[in-house]
Amino acid sequence: MNSHLDYVEVFPWNKNFETGVEIIDEQHKKLVSLLNELASTLTQDNQIEVTRVFDELAEYANFHFETEEAIWVGYFSDDSWLSSHQLTHSSFLPSVLKLKEQDSNKSLDEMIEGIVKFLIRWLAFHIIDNDKRMAFVIQNIQAGLSLEEAKIVADKKMSGSIRVLIETVMTMYDNLSSRTLDLMRERHKRKKIEEELHDANQQLREANLSLEQLSITDQLTGLFNRRHFNNTFMQELKKAYRDTMPLSLIIVDIDFFKRINDKHGHSEGDRVLVQVSQKLKELCQRPGDYVFRLGGEEFGILATNPGSQGAAQFPEIIRKGIEQLSIPNIDSDIAKILTVSIGAITKVPDETDTIDNYMTIADARLYKAKELGRNQVVASSNL
Ligand code: GH3
Ligand code: MG
Ligand code: MG
Repeated sequence: MNSHLDYVEVFPWNKNFETGVEIIDEQHKKLVSLLNELASTLTQDNQIEVTRVFDELAEYANFHFETEEAIWVGYFSDDSWLSSHQLTHSSFLPSVLKLKEQDSNKSLDEMIEGIVKFLIRWLAFHIIDNDKRMAFVIQNIQAGLSLEEAKIVADKKMSGSIRVLIETVMTMYDNLSSRTLDLMRERHKRKKIEEELHDANQQLREANLSLEQLSITDQLTGLFNRRHFNNTFMQELKKAYRDTMPLSLIIVDIDFFKRINDKHGHSEGDRVLVQVSQKLKELCQRPGDYVFRLGGEEFGILATNPGSQGAAQFPEIIRKGIEQLSIPNIDSDIAKILTVSIGAITKVPDETDTIDNYMTIADARLYKAKELGRNQVVASSNL
């Protein structure tokens, strides 16, 4: 259906169109409103909707002609006025259909416009001239005149100054409908442009979004990259300081990773990195946990709510989780499977704390874990 905004009257109803025969006037109004609806489909670019309204209008016109003729025949019986009136009725639909077919190589807009203009002219003229003339005859017969006398009176009434008036009104309707159709076409164009603009904006937003995503993602593993680590760390450090909350930095380094590369090649090494990354992601599902690839076979984890699992427990869960993957590393000095060493620090930051001193401490503990034989966590300085 037409939205209220799309509805434009190309044919405004006017009291002068009234014949005085109530049922006919009602049907004329309905025809005019269908015509306005058809014109309004110009803004929709919807062939199905156009066809639907068009068919409804054609069907209604036929129904209306039958009603009208049934009324006329009661007064005109086999008079030539009735037969010529019937002729105009029966030529109506073929004329419109011809217009529709002829214009099939034109755009939908142009086709509707052609039909709408024809309908406006036809309907306005038919109602204001033919139907009113017939209605006058009826009125005069009802007032006591014979058919012949009534026809003469009606003809007189519809000639001269009334004729001029009809011509004037017709021209006005013609101009009005042209202008309205132009306006509607403009509106349609603008709407299309607005839609295109909206789509383009949407695409731009999506592109920006994926670009942003790309710039913070490590391409091999899909984890956040080092750049994002620095930014996130900065933010979380400030937040933890402000809220007096502990912040954990956990550095995970694969043990004897080089031996996997050496034994099975670099691409097998890559596959292992992806597997380990996947597991780390799984293990860091709480809100406030972030996993980053810091470089090579080294990963960083920020946990903003380490308390719930205990400062040392979480790194231990991670170590075990990787161990349980049971990825073979037969050349490792310490096990036949892949293991990791972890250095961690959990601390409520004070105003002197920086990323660097968190990193220095975690790195030193990682080094310590390596030194102590690998495959272990060092999460405090008590060793
Ligand atoms: P350690 O237990 O002392 O940590 O020994 P390691 O072999 O794990 O450490 P090392 O620093 O000696 O070697 C790390 C290796 O990781 C060397 C490097 O070629 C490899 N590496 C770094 N980045 C990538 C990568 O993106 N893909 C692969 N396949 N290998 C990588
Ligand atoms: Mg290593
Ligand atoms: Mg390393």
